[in-house]
Amino acid sequence: MKTVLITGSSRGIGLGLVKEYVKNGYKVVATCRDPETASDLKSTLAETNQPSAIALDVASDDSIFKAAEEVSKIVDSIDILINNAGVAAKNHPNDPAIGVDREDALRVYSTNVIGPLKVTEAFLPLLRKGNEKKVVNISSFLGSLGCACPELGSFTTYSGSKAALNMVTRYQAFELNDCIIASVEPGWVDTDMGNAGGKVKPPLTMLDCAPKLVNTIEGLKREDSSFYFSLEGEKMQF
Ligand code: NDP
Repeated sequence: MKTVLITGSSRGIGLGLVKEYVKNGYKVVATCRDPETASDLKSTLAETNQPSAIALDVASDDSIFKAAEEVSKIVDSIDILINNAGVAAKNHPNDPAIGVDREDALRVYSTNVIGPLKVTEAFLPLLRKGNEKKVVNISSFLGSLGCACPELGSFTTYSGSKAALNMVTRYQAFELNDCIIASVEPGWVDTDMGNAGGKVKPPLTMLDCAPKLVNTIEGLKREDSSFYFSLEGEKMQF
């Protein structure tokens, strides 16, 4: 049985991935900031005999390394690590370049960029014991340098963090060349972040997204390491 570890599993894409991987017969190590209050996650895991969720705040190194210790007590290895947890700027989708809030931007970069770096570092020993040795950083089309979507809003902090994450993916892949490490963008999905708190209507539901995302992750091969892929598995321009 393959094992997948997912960050930010309490809701949205993370929770959708948990449900899809459970359906596909994986052992799922779900992590989130506060397992006690993540009721949908809690019932999904209990009903399917999966391990209980582990507390993991990707913006705290203490929390990350403590979680890695906890996880090593319940599994011997991890095949796929999905760095999904992410946040948008507080003014998303109205975050122009002039007037960025430094504190808020640091929160976004700490979560979206440093989070995946430190989570990968902490779980590397378990990943190296797995057969697949795959790390997926959930990126965004808003992080593509060629993406100009002013009609959708302004995303200075968030887009910058996802562009930085794509570069982090490259460096992780160069350094950890026994692993397959790629960025994948999930499409525009109707989640709390995707619908910007109910202000807009994204075209994809989690039911559209989850099977495709799992399929694209499944298809990632050694030669794909360091690159950036769409929901459908096509190589994207950085
Ligand atoms: P949601 O806002 O619906 O969910 C975000 C998840 O991340 C929640 O589970 C949240 O946990 C968790 N999270 C936030 N901060 C932390 C933290 N410090 N530590 C651990 N978990 C944390 O967003 P989505 O599900 O839409 O987004 C998931 C990923 O997909 C993100 O990386 C996002 O950037 C990316 N993405 C989303 C798109 C979309 O259209 N929805 C498009 C492109 C990319 P909690 O419940 O504790 O707040």
